Amino acid sequence: MGGVPITRDWKKRTKLVHEGIRRSQYGEVAEPVFLTQGFVYESAEQAAQRFEEAGEDEFIYSRYGNPTVRMFEERIAAIEGAEDAFATASGMAAVYASLASMLKAGDHVVSARALFGSCHYVLDEVLQRFGVDVTFVDGTSLDAWKAAVRPNTKAVFLESISNPTLEVIDIKAVAAVARDVGATVIVDNVFSTPVLSRVLDLGADVVVYSATKHIDGQGRVLGGVVLGSRDYVRKTLEPFLKHTGGAMSPFTAWLLLKGMETLDLRVRAQAESARKVAEAFEGDARLERVIYPGLPSHPQHETAMAQMKRGGTVATFVLKGGQPAAFRFLNALRIFIISNNLGDAKSIVTHPTTTTHQRLTDEQRDEMGILPGLVRLSLGLEDVDDLIRDIRQALEAA
Ligand SMILES: *Cc1c(COP(=O)(O)O)cnc(C)c1O
Repeated sequence: MGGVPITRDWKKRTKLVHEGIRRSQYGEVAEPVFLTQGFVYESAEQAAQRFEEAGEDEFIYSRYGNPTVRMFEERIAAIEGAEDAFATASGMAAVYASLASMLKAGDHVVSARALFGSCHYVLDEVLQRFGVDVTFVDGTSLDAWKAAVRPNTKAVFLESISNPTLEVIDIKAVAAVARDVGATVIVDNVFSTPVLSRVLDLGADVVVYSATKHIDGQGRVLGGVVLGSRDYVRKTLEPFLKHTGGAMSPFTAWLLLKGMETLDLRVRAQAESARKVAEAFEGDARLERVIYPGLPSHPQHETAMAQMKRGGTVATFVLKGGQPAAFRFLNALRIFIISNNLGDAKSIVTHPTTTTHQRLTDEQRDEMGILPGLVRLSLGLEDVDDLIRDIRQALEAA
């Protein structure tokens, strides 16, 4: 199989279409799908050699690595500017592996408090059960990060933009605090997307994505990926993932490769719609608040613009009238579908209090600012004028 030589001066859009492709002897146009559990060796000697040390294009078993999955890993690593990447079965497999592969009992982790529900479960329940001490902080307070780190802090964990309250964390500043104690900075970058930000340039050591969101962006598969230095990916992460079984399916990798071809176009169009929706409804009498990092009224607007130039593809509304008003609003929407994904071509509305963040106590939700009237809007690829009209009629009904 011939790989295209990695051309570092290509711009993002070119890499999204071509990077990492490996063509078979048939010279196919689309990336080939190697839907195989494992690989055949030409001799006993070759099998022995491959187990001793597999080269770049030598595969053993698809739980360890697979050519289609490798194409996806190389393409996303090139976009992110990372030395290497390991793909996983879901975003949560990626989050869990990024932490569990490097921590042991007695270690300390500092994490932002405003987290995706499952990330909170991993940090608050699973890791603590294995003797890892976790301190949660207000991610937007640099003083809180400074006060929480200790000499045994091995990792800091944060979402670049929190879900669903869209708080933006100053990654450069947090990374500087972490570096003082030698802690690894792990960023779950789903909401910033690989096209709007380069968090490794801001000082993060490890980046994690749920590829289920914008990277697929068409509601088809679950997937995830962890990116970082070659040393971290090959020596820390790979042994953990390869033996614990969180591998990505080759078919998923193939769909994600196709998704990446249009990733930049989709995310830019979706971010533009999110900005227009946020601007159209800011100050609406039926809303307590419109939260969107691209609005100058957002508390971390400047950090958002410095880190990603745009406000992202999600906008959050807080409706007056609490949960009953939020439910009436959801039920009245005609184009937006009620679901819990985001970053999809289809616009999606979510009520976090009763779905994605239901597991938390009222107190925890209060601390995170997840109010009963809060609704999360993920903007899709429909005509934004239709979306604005849909929201307007649903607000009238609510
Ligand atoms: C969706 C999501 C995850 C989990 O991803 P899955 O692919 O659903 O496992 C993790 N972090 C964030 C911020 C997410 O939005």
